Parts: sequence; structure tokens; C-alpha cells
Amino acid sequence: MRFLFLFLDGVGLGADDPGINPFALVEMPHLQGLLGGDRLLLDAIPAVEAGDPTHVASLQTERATLLALDASLGMEGLPQSATGQATLLTGVNVPAAIGYHYGPKPNQAVAEFLRNGNLFTTLRRSGRSAALVNAYPPGYFAAIESGRRLFSAIPLAVSSAGLPLRTSQDLFAGMALSADFTGQGWRDRLGLPETPVLSPYKAGERLAALAREVDLAFFEFWLSDYAGHAQDLESARTLLTSLDQVLSGLLAAWDDEEGLVLLTSDHGNLEDLSTRRHTPNPVPALLIGDRAHRDAFTASLRDLTGVTPAILNFLEAGI
Ligand SMILES: [Zn+2]
Repeated sequence: MRFLFLFLDGVGLGADDPGINPFALVEMPHLQGLLGGDRLLLDAIPAVEAGDPTHVASLQTERATLLALDASLGMEGLPQSATGQATLLTGVNVPAAIGYHYGPKPNQAVAEFLRNGNLFTTLRRSGRSAALVNAYPPGYFAAIESGRRLFSAIPLAVSSAGLPLRTSQDLFAGMALSADFTGQGWRDRLGLPETPVLSPYKAGERLAALAREVDLAFFEFWLSDYAGHAQDLESARTLLTSLDQVLSGLLAAWDDEEGLVLLTSDHGNLEDLSTRRHTPNPVPALLIGDRAHRDAFTASLRDLTGVTPAILNFLEAGI
């Protein structure tokens, strides 16, 4: 069995308010189809019956399960990327351990948790293959090398596991995806006009193909957090429309028998454009795949700490 982790930075479950929440406004037919016609909103998840602590509130459809995960993790203040991502990747409540939410890039304290062991190191130790399928441009490696740029939590976890970060060569060879999925951003913003450009649908198909090469494939999409900070509804609309087409290609190419796909996030942001800051909203855990696997995966999933243990259990059990 395989696992595809599609990480969307800064996407919470917000209110059904098209004035502030692009998920309440923008048509996302493929995502909505997956959710049985519902939108990616907090009220898509039916409430559990009072007094039933064993049952977690979730939306179940033919192909997907949607849960709300707590991203605040019992700590005051707004959740941040470094501590949220480190929690997703280690299963440790990192904000509680260090006493605060922190981000966007890991400080020493957060970095230590990631270096001491994470999802990628655990998989490698047990002989499983894992890959971060994002491609990083040449300037990124130069900036890391010179110390001008710090690793964010996800590439730090991957590098700590001794896994390579994929490069422009990988992207050109069809073995990676750019951060914007299509490659257009490399042409427009990075001055790399030779970059091959994919349609969002084709990018989704490629994501499924790349996931097929390893036990765990991970893709980090951070433009969602940027769009939230920018409070720009038009760029949010473009982004979500494109993301929906990526999902369409992925869902068409993905066979539910081969494993699970998880879309989740580190904290809210994009779902409330009334603020340029992060939000305390729960984040979605949207799981796509066979019902029995989804049920097992979500059985003890309540907050960000549950994700890594659930992935490891799934890959362990699904040999
Ligand atoms: Zn942010």
C-alpha cells in the first residue's frame, strides 16, 4: 500500500461566508464531488451525537472522509508553520513541548525535534521508500548553501533523513513538480523560461504517478498560505480553481485500491481573508481511498499529532 501526503499550507476549515472565505465562494467541482456536494467548510462535518466520546465527527462519502483536526494543540496564540509542520511530521506536540507556536521557519528548538526523528527517518529505518516530490530551483540550493536561507520544516525533515531534495533536472525529466504544480511560476517569477509547463490536470496525474514510485510521497503546497496572508480574493480564486483541476487529474489517475491520499494543513489562514494572520480554526484532514483504510486511519486522529502515527500504522498494516 502507498500513501500520498498532499500538504496544503495555511488551509483551515472556516465559516460558510463567501464574503471572507474563498472556499465558500469559489466553485471547486471536483473537491465538492469528492465531498458529496459539500464544500470544504467546517459545517460540512455533521456534529456527533452528544455524549458519544468514542465517535469522531466526520463526513463520509463514497470515496472520502473529512475530519476537523485541532491545530492549536492546547497552546495559546495562533498556530504557526514551523511548529505545526514539525508536529505533523513527528507526532510530538511540538508547541506544547517548547511552550509556544513558532514559525514560519524552524528555530533551534523546533529543528531539534525534526532532526531527532521524523516520518521520513522512521520510514527509511524500516526499509521503506519515501520522497518529497517538490522540485527546488537552482537558486534555492545556492541560498541554503550560503546560509542566506533556512530550511523550512518539511525539507529539513527530508534532508535529516538523508533523502535528496529534487532539482530542476528532476522537474525537467518529469520526476518532480514545481511548488505551483504547473511550472508556470518558474517561468514567470524565477526567470527560467525553459521550464516545461503542465496543465493543472496533468500535474495531478503526475502526482499520482510519482506517488506510485515510493511507499510515501509528500508534496508541499505553500501558495495557499501566501494567498491567505495577501488577503487577495482574486489570487485565492485562481489558486483554488487550479487546485481543483490538480485534484481532478489526481483523482482520475489514483486507484483507491493502491493506498490513501491525505490532504491536510498546519494551521488556518486562507479560509478567512478578513485577517492577514493565521486563524485558530481547525484544519481539514481529507482522506481519499478505500473505506476500511480510511476508517482505520481516522480511528484515533484528533489533532496534528495523530497524523504521523496513523501513516506509520497504515503502511505497517498494509503490506
Ligand atoms: Zn503563514
